[in-house]
Amino acid sequence: MSAKRRPAEDVPPGRAALQRHVLEVQRTIRTCTGCGLCCTEPWNSMTILPREADRIVAHLRRLPAARRDALLERARRAVQRWRLRRARGLPHYTCGFLEPDMSCALPFDVKPVACLSFNPLTPDRCDQEPEWFARAGEEVEAEQRAAGGEARRRPIPVAVLDAWSRATRPGG
Ligand code: SF4
Ligand code: SF4
Repeated sequence: MSAKRRPAEDVPPGRAALQRHVLEVQRTIRTCTGCGLCCTEPWNSMTILPREADRIVAHLRRLPAARRDALLERARRAVQRWRLRRARGLPHYTCGFLEPDMSCALPFDVKPVACLSFNPLTPDRCDQEPEWFARAGEEVEAEQRAAGGEARRRPIPVAVLDAWSRATRPGG
């Protein structure tokens, strides 16, 4: 990952605890092999709140323009290919932030908490860790309530493109 980490004080406590948990899982159970399964269509149906999309957009704005534009274009293509704006329920899709080498384009302290909560549980099985998702997710929900606005969870590419529009509209 080429992006620099932001200062620790920018990471809220629930997310910071989850990040420590992920590192501990990787140390004690198994390092994510980067197989990419959890980010691709058969498995992935991640959704995020606008506040998490804002966090991703703040990161995108710090990237060189060419890199940022390429990631936004990949998000647009994912929305088109899997018809994510019209989809009901939890549509499956391959995330636009998944790199060709199956790594995530987002740094650790920017990744959605749902993604951070999906981990190797045993040496041969990965899955969502609902307790960890609930803890860090509650923090995001509280941030969302404090910020106001629409609080609907959307597939990651949709939420990011909407957040990008909000952030870049005149006066935004
Ligand atoms: S968390 Fe598991 S399924 Fe996801 S990329 Fe890593 S090894 Fe693969
Ligand atoms: S944001 Fe990263 S970890 Fe999450 S689904 Fe997309 S590629 Fe996977």
